[in-house]
Amino acid sequence: MMKETLIDIRSLKKYYPVKGGIFRKHIADVKAVDDIDLQIHKGECLGLVGESGCGKTTLGKTLLNIHKATEGRIYFDQDKNEVEELEKLIAAENPDNLQKINKLRTKMDMTQYSRKAISELRRRMQIVFQDPSHSLDPRMLVKKIVAEPLVCQKLLGAEEIQVRLQQIMETVGLSKQHYNRYPHEFSGGQRQRIAVARALTTHPDLILMDEPTSALDVSVQSQILNLLKDLQKQFNLTYIFVTHHLLVVKFISDRIAVMYLGKIVEIGKTKAVFENAKHPYTKALLSAIPVPDPETEKERIILEGDVPNPIDPPNGCRFHPRCSYAVDICKKDLPLMENVDGDHSVACHRWKEIF
Ligand code: SF4
Repeated sequence: MMKETLIDIRSLKKYYPVKGGIFRKHIADVKAVDDIDLQIHKGECLGLVGESGCGKTTLGKTLLNIHKATEGRIYFDQDKNEVEELEKLIAAENPDNLQKINKLRTKMDMTQYSRKAISELRRRMQIVFQDPSHSLDPRMLVKKIVAEPLVCQKLLGAEEIQVRLQQIMETVGLSKQHYNRYPHEFSGGQRQRIAVARALTTHPDLILMDEPTSALDVSVQSQILNLLKDLQKQFNLTYIFVTHHLLVVKFISDRIAVMYLGKIVEIGKTKAVFENAKHPYTKALLSAIPVPDPETEKERIILEGDVPNPIDPPNGCRFHPRCSYAVDICKKDLPLMENVDGDHSVACHRWKEIF
């Protein structure tokens, strides 16, 4: 069965300008997200993994238009055929089509939306941050925190808000006695439940989970992960799950995208990537997962050197300075995404011969 696409990203870039000199001129760019194509299906959980600074959080926030994209297109819940038509027009690079392209992009491409259109779309996209003790206002009562998105969006009347509040709080495992308390009166896990409740109040289609369990104790992490899984099923939610914790992503994600220095280097079904990784960087990440059996010996792949500077990424394959399989072509040509099997793809010149 064809899966419906919720978000379709084409050639997305997010650069942060670097200024220098006495006149604070633009001298370079930090290429946090660099030319990414990605489709996220309705009802799936896509895990975004990679080392710190690889661009996974920036990609998530750019998708939600929290950070304005530097270049590229983001189509949110658009007709697939219309998107393809528009992409064909853009690819043709015919100046005669410019007016038509601009008109269509204003209608379909989130990067071209007005403030009003973006704010209307906000209801359908929410975010849960890493640390609930920072993402919840300490001076607000829980009932106000959770109802705030509904009040801001003017979606419901006062009575309906109370009904929705009660439903959502029960859904995440909190009761009426919690309404009139402040965030500091809760444990870390309960605070994250409040943050999840706040994200759910507007009945979104998409939630960006930005390391939602990283700040929690291990015992609480599993409770929150199980809750997120249940909620996803119950409300048919689409998650973008950003994390550096591979076992978490293995548990919760349907697909995984591995990022390195602003690019996706491998993407596929969770099982396929874990059992049959094709990119040397993915292999190295997977080799770092601890095995819960002291008898089992596991070969750990140690990556040499640091992640290169995203202001001046290496030519060719960005991973080549740290890759033990690198050959001349890797230093010159950027590898393109190639299909491995089904929807498992990898960007490596040598994936067929090395694994
Ligand atoms: Fe390594 Fe070359 Fe593959 Fe890059 S393209 S991951 S450098 S083998």
